[in-house]
Amino acid sequence: MKKAHRKPSVMRRSSRVYLNDLNTSKAAIVRDFLHVCHDATQYFVDLFWQRQDFSADLADLETVHRGRDRFGLTARLAQALAKQAKETVRSQIEKADKTKPQLRSWTVTLYYHFVEIEPFEGAYFDLAVQLIGSGAPRLTLPVHATRHLNRKLAGGWRLSKTLRLGVRRGRVFVDFLLEKERPQTKSEGRVVGMDNNYVTGLVFSDGQNVGQELVQAIRHFPKRKKNTHVEIKSRMGQAIKLIDFSSIRVMCIEDLKYVKRGTRGTFSRTHNRRLSHWLYAYVVDVLARHCEEHGVRLERKHPAYTSQYCHICNRWDRRNRSGDRFRCVHCGYTAQADFNAAYNLELLGLAGAYGLRWLQSSKQQGFG
Ligand SMILES: [Zn+2]
Repeated sequence: MKKAHRKPSVMRRSSRVYLNDLNTSKAAIVRDFLHVCHDATQYFVDLFWQRQDFSADLADLETVHRGRDRFGLTARLAQALAKQAKETVRSQIEKADKTKPQLRSWTVTLYYHFVEIEPFEGAYFDLAVQLIGSGAPRLTLPVHATRHLNRKLAGGWRLSKTLRLGVRRGRVFVDFLLEKERPQTKSEGRVVGMDNNYVTGLVFSDGQNVGQELVQAIRHFPKRKKNTHVEIKSRMGQAIKLIDFSSIRVMCIEDLKYVKRGTRGTFSRTHNRRLSHWLYAYVVDVLARHCEEHGVRLERKHPAYTSQYCHICNRWDRRNRSGDRFRCVHCGYTAQADFNAAYNLELLGLAGAYGLRWLQSSKQQGFG
């Protein structure tokens, strides 16, 4: 069992807005600023890594001042960058890859000392991001709100006073950080299982099915299209929005760490199998956010045998699964294969079991 921990009561999201209308001189100032921030943050990362300092404490003043003097920063900016460097170093040691982090992206998190967000005075823009000094340049960045940002604001999300400023492929962007109270986890409603594959989309044990048209779209994408992943993500995101969460209390899905690479989906080529795994990870990510916003508990279950188990006669047989059909060789029960797997995930949710092997240990029928 996972250790129970109390979640903070605020949900956080971000919304990226590219400042495409920024004039070239302002864009150059921002890029120069980000360049210095990047180099100084990397300098701090190198120092903390060298010292193996993975603590959560604030950076010591001596170190902050070294960075300040070396890069000609204000103490306040040096402090903020050292803090980000510490977070980077700390999150790196939690990863499997234990090599020294190299900052690839040019981004900086700016607190209220450096930035203010105001409504834009005038018709053409929506927001004014004011960089107010303290080590950041003094500059007004006018912002067109995107549909995504507007939807979030209309849905009760608040703008945080902190934001992230960055540049990607020469384009300046702002990541607005959004906050909202987390709703209570529902106590009423049903438990559903969800199975997902490339061809049938997301199949739920309550009969819902979304995203089944995605496979056709993917088949027709041009082979080397640059934005293929962006396009697939966007379509999958649209599909997930169609899910009706209103009567769901708990959603059970396969635990991604046991979903083997290369075994999902019906596409035989390596590229497509990889895509399928990547897509599943993305789907879980988006689903988790939707569940959180709807007060639905998301439970991860061990996927072993869920595609071969018959819940009618409680027997397992590897011959039960054939392509996208499930047919029990013992009792003859038939179902669409993903629906059957989703149903078995629901069973695990209802039983409070992590996997069928665990569920079965209390019954007579064994596996394998
Ligand atoms: Zn059966």
